[in-house]
Amino acid sequence: MDCIFCKIVNGEIPSDIVYRDEEVFAFRDINPQAPVHILVVPVRHIASLAELTETDAPLVGHMVHVASQVARQEGIAERGYRLAISCGREGGQAVPHLHLHLLGGRQMADAMG
Ligand code: 5GP
Ligand code: ZN
Repeated sequence: MDCIFCKIVNGEIPSDIVYRDEEVFAFRDINPQAPVHILVVPVRHIASLAELTETDAPLVGHMVHVASQVARQEGIAERGYRLAISCGREGGQAVPHLHLHLLGGRQMADAMG
């Protein structure tokens, strides 16, 4: 499949991997918006939140849990961080493979978008 994140997951495109298991993959964003900017993606291609079914709920929970563990690993768990998922055009989603942004290491702005 012609998907950047599928290619990252299967190693066709190199990335700075921080975590992986059978269901989830995490790597550093190529254009970081904060000192820590990591993307947590499902190994299986899911285009966006709009494609989720009820059976995907544990997977999304796992993505959130992995993000919290990576935050701890990165040393930002105590200071705090933000998790964000963009969906679709108006949500500002650029890559059509579900991904969760872990952002930290600086004060986040008050406003959401
Ligand atoms: P979105 O705007 O879809 O929520 O976020 C897509 C993110 O993927 C952006 O923050 C962008 O910098 C990141 N990104 C796009 N292409 C690549 C890539 O080839 N490698 C890495 N590591 N990140 C990428
Ligand atoms: Zn994909």
